[in-house]
Amino acid sequence: TQRLQGKTVLVTAAAQGMGQASAIAAAREGAQVIATDINAPLLDDLARAHPAIRTQVLDVRSAPAIAALAQQVGNVDVLFNCAGMVHHGTVLECDDDAWALSFDLNVTSMHRMVRAFLPGLLRRAQVTGSASIINMASMASSVKGFPNRYAYGATKAAVIGLSKAIAADFVKQGLRCNALCPGTVDTPSLRGRIAAAADPVQAEKDFIARQPMGRLATVDDIVPMVIYLASDDSRFVTGQALLVDGGVTI
Ligand code: NAD
Repeated sequence: TQRLQGKTVLVTAAAQGMGQASAIAAAREGAQVIATDINAPLLDDLARAHPAIRTQVLDVRSAPAIAALAQQVGNVDVLFNCAGMVHHGTVLECDDDAWALSFDLNVTSMHRMVRAFLPGLLRRAQVTGSASIINMASMASSVKGFPNRYAYGATKAAVIGLSKAIAADFVKQGLRCNALCPGTVDTPSLRGRIAAAADPVQAEKDFIARQPMGRLATVDDIVPMVIYLASDDSRFVTGQALLVDGGVTI
């Protein structure tokens, strides 16, 4: 049985990593998927992955672009705000511009997306009794502190807070909102962080060492939680920060 039959799912940062894997999985579960990202060539590849995926270039830092897309798309059942970046460093390496960039991409983007798409989500919730927002947070957030994740941890804590607030405001209208908190996931940007380290071999070992299961997550370890939160299987779950971290926060 296809768990997302009849649902329209919009994903940001869908060109690679967890967003891409989620877009494909959602299409396979019967959803109509609108996959968005700033990387047009990778989106073109994704458009060929499944006939139920349509792609659209969207920079989540652009309020006008978001408003235009919401106008064009109309109602959606599921909004997966996946876009985010990692600032590497302590407070001493984070000047005001770096701080502002992290908050703009990781937090304010979600504020913009939710404001633009909430009316359509609520219209769908009125018809189906069920709409879902999934916001990408991290285990590195209010859940746990990590070295060199100063701005990142602050932004992902904010994502959990805004998700709980949205959940509280719209729980009576059939709209759920949850935050997803993965552990260390093997994605293109993680590979980039490893490659950019002074000692890439050691950096990879360090990333693996912080995962008690002795390995990194793959996107396939995380995507089932996205599908669960998107589907009506999670109909009694809202306002939660769901950890999929391979035991880091035991
Ligand atoms: P990734 O970082 O490899 O890919 C990110 C995608 O975001 C890229 O396709 C990029 O083009 C897109 N993007 C960048 N700026 C954008 C913008 N302004 N508008 C729209 N799209 C933009 O993928 P990932 O590692 O799966 O990360 C996705 C999310 O998961 C991020 O929010 C990240 O913080 C979070 N996360 C990642 C990990 C991990 O270990 N990889 C762990 C926890 C949480």
